[in-house]
Amino acid sequence: MIDTHTHLDFPEFDQDREEVIRRAFDNGIKAIVNIGVDLERSRKSIELAEKHERIFAAVGFHPDFFSKGDLGNQGDWKDWVEKLKKLAKCKKVVAIGETGLDYFHITHSMEHGTKDLKKIKENQRRGFLAQIEIAKELGLPVIVHCRNAWDDLYEIISKVRLFPSDKQVVGIPQSRTLFVLHCYSGEKKDTEKFLKLPNVYFSFSGNITYPKPADRAEKLAEAVRMIPLDKMMLDSDAPFLAPQEFRGKRNEPMYVKFIAEKIARVKEISVEEVERVTDGNAMKFFWDKKLGRT
Ligand SMILES: [Zn+2]
Repeated sequence: MIDTHTHLDFPEFDQDREEVIRRAFDNGIKAIVNIGVDLERSRKSIELAEKHERIFAAVGFHPDFFSKGDLGNQGDWKDWVEKLKKLAKCKKVVAIGETGLDYFHITHSMEHGTKDLKKIKENQRRGFLAQIEIAKELGLPVIVHCRNAWDDLYEIISKVRLFPSDKQVVGIPQSRTLFVLHCYSGEKKDTEKFLKLPNVYFSFSGNITYPKPADRAEKLAEAVRMIPLDKMMLDSDAPFLAPQEFRGKRNEPMYVKFIAEKIARVKEISVEEVERVTDGNAMKFFWDKKLGRT
């Protein structure tokens, strides 16, 4: 199995990081993609990847980053784009992310007045677009975090092909930028829309194994049923979202097997089938795009 989304650089793993990594590879994990959430964490992600053959890195800014103040109006906007682009060119970087839109945190936080909301959303969108541009330029796929922002997300992703910079990049064949909606939790109407975009994949996390709340469990099961296996990947999001067996505890990459088991039960297929197809999807998603790069 391939864990396509994890945060092994987080302090939760400071005491036993190497053990957790060894446990993952000893228990059937073939590869791990470690995800960046800001510049510092993206650097750490690359460090980890350079140390371990089967760990790969994604670099990017989490949407929450753009909720802090009005970064969009400050001079350092250009600066972080350049720095991120430089990191993205590192040999073991296989994706840009996690980036995207998160309106959940800003609407549930008392520190923002409604006047700020519009501006924060605008900043998040700008930050997302800038990172998509980097991905397009370098021929990398994009790992998307989305909460309570599905309409705006669709608006952006469905138009990616129309961006002015959508032109042939030397050494990289013209192709659509791939996106994966990580920890997917959209409504039926969202799933229907995103399924129509051929360049969009979905990854599921431990929350699909939670029996409660029941309405939420059913909504996620419905998404698992609707989405064909060849559009799916596995995503631990460790240290967060431990599967039901370990709910509330620290999560780790080897627990993605519980996500695979849940998908197998919902789709009434074997776990081996889930593993085979999701591994193939991850290979295609992260490694086929590295054409033209060494
Ligand atoms: Zn994450």
